[in-house]
Amino acid sequence: MSTDIVFGYILAPVSPRPNNTFFDSEPGGREAAPGSVALVQAFVNTVAEEGGQRWEAFADPDYLRSWLVRNGLLDDGEAVGDADVIWARDVRRALRSLLAANNGGEVYPEAVKTLNRAAKRAVLVVRFGPGGRTAAPESVAGGVDGAIGRVLSAAHAGMEEGTWERLKTCANGRCGWAFYDRSKNRSGRWCSMGVCGNRTKTRAYRRRRTAREV
Ligand SMILES: [Zn+2]
Repeated sequence: MSTDIVFGYILAPVSPRPNNTFFDSEPGGREAAPGSVALVQAFVNTVAEEGGQRWEAFADPDYLRSWLVRNGLLDDGEAVGDADVIWARDVRRALRSLLAANNGGEVYPEAVKTLNRAAKRAVLVVRFGPGGRTAAPESVAGGVDGAIGRVLSAAHAGMEEGTWERLKTCANGRCGWAFYDRSKNRSGRWCSMGVCGNRTKTRAYRRRRTAREV
């Protein structure tokens, strides 16, 4: 990374802040989601597939524990089992499904049911702030249930902050990467126009051409 000194000011290239378990940048050079929903984005983007490669941050209890600890959601000594791995993946799938709905997909009742179950397991209770002017859900459960509760609280906060609807999964079904849509009219569809946008368009073009040729 180079810096230039112009008129006594140091101009450093702005590098978009990634929020990514696997790569050191977001697709298309996007910046990570802001505020509360950054945690939801990180949680959903713990699995990725690209060109026959698959990355899974919740591969087994040790992987899951280490991700949750690294993200400040779990104490290091807490027990994590196989059932927790399955549950974390279920909740992730449900959240991803809501983010797909933010990108024009439909809301699946199963996904909503899973998240409500997760909220119950996390024992999310309304906690009033010390000033008495704010109240927000807070998990009082321990372990992985409590960790997941913090992710759900972050989703709720995003809904309050008005950022939730901009958190979407890529319209390329093979990608599904969660990205934050900063476009003015919330019209972003792909994690990266250069990668998924063009690929999807090329496929659609090929399909149309093939249909004509047949
Ligand atoms: Zn994509």
